This record gives sequence, structure tokens and C-alpha cells, in this order.
Amino acid sequence: MDFTGKRVIVTGAGKGIGRATALMLAARGAKVVALTRTASDLESLQNEIDCVAITVDLADPVATRAAALKALPGDLLVNCAGTTELESFLDVSVENFDLLYAVNTRAPMIIAQEYARDMVRSGRKGAIVNVSSVAAFVGIPDHAAYCASKSGLDGLTRVMAKELAPQGIRVNGVHPTVTLTPMAIKAWSDPQKAAGMLNRIPVGRFADPDDVAEVILFLLSDEAAMVNGLSMPVDGGYMVA
Ligand code: NDP
Repeated sequence: MDFTGKRVIVTGAGKGIGRATALMLAARGAKVVALTRTASDLESLQNEIDCVAITVDLADPVATRAAALKALPGDLLVNCAGTTELESFLDVSVENFDLLYAVNTRAPMIIAQEYARDMVRSGRKGAIVNVSSVAAFVGIPDHAAYCASKSGLDGLTRVMAKELAPQGIRVNGVHPTVTLTPMAIKAWSDPQKAAGMLNRIPVGRFADPDDVAEVILFLLSDEAAMVNGLSMPVDGGYMVA
């Protein structure tokens, strides 16, 4: 897959899957526009690749829209930034529920709106990948707000796929299982919990960020020209019934 000449907006490009995606895109010719919260992550990314760096807190809708406009124009978009808080359903606080919805669901919508409006205005064709999770399909204990936020993102993906494809923009989701990133360390550092999850993954390992990035790049690419509205598991068979 060759992305030469393509300008690709990647949120959450500071760490984990977003960073792996940014590096892989750059290695395959793209100019990356990287959005994330921690400025030092963007500085270190800029030491590795020639990219545009935009610092933003995606929990803030006004700042998010301003950052989305600043990132334009983009040929392709990856909504990868995400966050989690571990709480049992009985303990989920309204504050954390709202935070996860703001970052995981509302921010991708805002960024995609500005990207797609610009694409439609200029009559260009493109693609969006929203990074969801197996948690959109499976109820994972202590992840109630996270599961809800990712299911909400999937609802957006499906509507976007129907509304935007006629305008030349394909929209797909990827659904990783546990992927070895800073977020996974936060959520899965308890060895007993991790073993329970690992036992349910037929390929016998957690995902690496590059496993997910490869699938994101495929869905962005022209090779996936007929793929639209897909929820693509990257889970080693975790969800096989
Ligand atoms: P990481 O925590 O490793 O990286 C997330 C990135 O998103 C960081 O650069 C982070 O910046 C950024 N980000 C988080 N919150 C905000 C915010 N409020 N404003 C701006 N940027 C923000 O996570 P992963 O790479 O693991 O996750 C990437 C995506 O993949 C997420 O959407 C996640 O839900 C999803 N996913 C991850 C799985 C996993 O096991 N790792 C499994 C399934 C899905 P900062 O560090 O500065 O906050």
C-alpha cells in the first residue's frame, strides 16, 4: 500500500496504535498530520518523521473543532485517540462516563465532520477509519463506560458510511482486542485478568500496535475501494462464537 502524496490526519498519534499508524503511514509515503494531547509525544514523533503536529485536548469540543479545522486539508482520516477508566458498572461516575463519551465518541464525530465537510466542498474522495474495540461487541467487566462509548462510535461509523459514501468517502471501523500499548497496561496489568483474556484469543497472544496499524492502512487504501461500513475485528479470533 502506497500513500505517496496523501495527507493523513491521525488522532492519538502520540502513543500506542495511533503512533504506530503514523509511523507506518509515513514509511509508506504519507504526510501525517498528528493530533494528540501531550506535546512531548509530538516532539518525539517529529524527531522520527516529518509531520504536522497539533496539540489538543479532545475532551474539549471547542478545542477539538479548532484543531480539526487546523488539520485541514486531509486526504484520509484515522480517529484513533481514545481513553479509558476502570470502574465496575455500579461505580461508574457521571464524570467518567461523560469524559469517555467526549473523547471516544464525540471527538471522532467532530473531527470527521470537519474533514468530510472539506472533502465534499472540494469534491475529493477519501476514507475514514474509526478505531473502536471488541468492547463495542462484548461486555467487558469494569469497562461499562468504555463499552458504551465504543458502541456509540460504531453507530456513528454506520451512519457515516451510509451518508458519506455517496459523496466519495468510505468509513470503516477496526475493533482490536487487547493491544500492547500504554492503554493496555492500564487496563490489563493484573496478570489473572490478562490470562483470562489471553485464554480466549485463539492465536494465543495479544495484538501488537503494528497488527492494528496494518489493518487501518488497508481500510484507508484504494485496495479497499469496495469496503464501506465494516466493523473489522483485529482480535486473533476472540469474537468467534
Ligand atoms: P494509548 O493510551 O496508548 O494512546 C492513546 C493516544 O490517544 C495517546 O496519544 C493519547 O494522548 C491520546 N489521547 C487520549 N486522550 C486524549 C485526549 N483527551 N485528547 C487528545 N489525545 C488524547 O492507547 P492505545 O493506542 O491503546 O489506543 C488507541 C485506540 O485503540 C483507542 O481508541 C483505544 O480505545 C483503542 N483500543 C485499544 C486497545 C488496547 O488494548 N490498547 C484495544 C481496543 C481498542 P495522551 O497520552 O497525551 O493522553
